[in-house]
Amino acid sequence: MKCPFCSHQESKVIDSRASAAADVTRRRRECEKCDRRFTTYERVEEVLPLIVKKDGRRETFDRQKLVAGLRRACDKRAVALEAIEGIVDAIERDLIDSGEKELSAQVVGEKIMGHLKRLDEVAYVRFASVYRSFRDIDEFMSELEKMARDKGSLRQDPSRPDSSRPNAIERAGAEKKGDSL
Ligand SMILES: [Zn+2]
Repeated sequence: MKCPFCSHQESKVIDSRASAAADVTRRRRECEKCDRRFTTYERVEEVLPLIVKKDGRRETFDRQKLVAGLRRACDKRAVALEAIEGIVDAIERDLIDSGEKELSAQVVGEKIMGHLKRLDEVAYVRFASVYRSFRDIDEFMSELEKMARDKGSLRQDPSRPDSSRPNAIERAGAEKKGDSL
């Protein structure tokens, strides 16, 4: 830490405390050359990685967009906005902690879906269909089947899609066209 008086590079920390604003640390320093004292406020720089989309475009992580996407996925489901905000907080933290400069949208999508699956299964399927852009309808259907099987409620008849989730499928089809997130 450069001394503001003599520009000497070395100083020693004589006192250190976290400020009320938690992520800022106030340090009292003493220059090793001129012995004068000065204070620094150090903040850990939080950098969110860029999101690399399938076509190679880079986007900054857009918190509001993710909240909006999740709210849409949770439409008419018993999911509190707070729970959605909580997921977004956790993902944001995850991305920062990754320390990466860039992350593929797929990796981020998987993280989101991991959280969403625990929260609400229908919302998960809606979101998954948009975010993961299932390679084909079979993949999407097998995801639905897997979930139904996990619940032990599927009648194994491939000609009849799970009739208990028509809205999720219909919706997913409608939303797939949009460039959500
Ligand atoms: Zn100095």
